[in-house]
Amino acid sequence: VSASSLPFADVPLVDHHAHAVLRRAPTLDELRGLFSESQHPAQWRHVPFQLSYRRGLRELADMLGVEPSEQAVHAYRLASDPAAYAERLLRATGTEWLLLDDGFPLAEESFGLAQMAGFCGGRALPVLRLERVAEGALGGSLDELRESVRAAVRGARGAGYAGLKTVAAYRSGLDVQPPSLEAAAAALAERPARLAAKPLVDLVLLDALEANTAEPLPLQVHAGFGDADLLLPKADPSLLKPVLERYPGTPFVLLHCYPFVREAGWLAHVYPNVHLDVSLTIPHSARPLAALEEALELAPASKLLYASDAARTPELYYLAACRFRRALGQLLAREPGADELAERILRRNAIELYGLT
Ligand SMILES: [Zn+2]
Repeated sequence: VSASSLPFADVPLVDHHAHAVLRRAPTLDELRGLFSESQHPAQWRHVPFQLSYRRGLRELADMLGVEPSEQAVHAYRLASDPAAYAERLLRATGTEWLLLDDGFPLAEESFGLAQMAGFCGGRALPVLRLERVAEGALGGSLDELRESVRAAVRGARGAGYAGLKTVAAYRSGLDVQPPSLEAAAAALAERPARLAAKPLVDLVLLDALEANTAEPLPLQVHAGFGDADLLLPKADPSLLKPVLERYPGTPFVLLHCYPFVREAGWLAHVYPNVHLDVSLTIPHSARPLAALEEALELAPASKLLYASDAARTPELYYLAACRFRRALGQLLAREPGADELAERILRRNAIELYGLT
């Protein structure tokens, strides 16, 4: 099966949330790790028993024209130039716009924005990760940290950013509250290496939202699963309710959402400023159709965006795109106006939300 035979193959994608590809080719063990959200190498030997990985290897082998085995796919990859290999897989996704989180992976390890756009044969814009900005200011006073965040947000549009992103879910959870400034100052006085103390994480997010109100950029919010850094119940997007209500003019885009896809769908059903995606869930869940069904149980199709959340390794871009198109084809098979709904989900919702021209 080639990507060009998939449903809606003539509709280009806007991948509104993804990350750059690493320059260095992985060992087989590292490749397994790149298909897992686990950072524990002892977990990676279980990856060959993950249904989504097993199916992915067969899809990749078919696309690359090699024998359907892990060793054959990895050997093909090692024998290829990393940039040419990335281009082959990314080009096959049919992506016209790529919005890349600037906080991960490290710039010195990965291909740049222009190279990533070139791999797709499309265009790319960066997304400003708030915690990255704040972490550049952990050595100063609380006022200096707050002003660096506000200044970055106020200048984001002018600096070419398409949106903002927060990983508060990873750091202290989505139950964001206005903190006491004394508690935030005390947390900063401990000179932390990263932004993780709840008063600081909450203050940075609320300051950014305040600075963003004049001409708001969409805020991408990590929600649901990810690596073991997060406490899953605190990554439930329904915890964001007070924040969503306090900034009605700010578009919020809930990312990933698994296993809270239905909670995110409800938020997108009741709040005009809430949108969602099922990135990361697709490609990693072995039930991509179920993820789309849950998202659209309540959320209007005008609120669902395509994204891969692919990171570090190019196979994930390809598998996310194939699986999303295939699942969308199944979901809309008997739906009148399916082509219009698919075109909205795959590209137009994001083009309108981010003002891509
Ligand atoms: Zn991401």
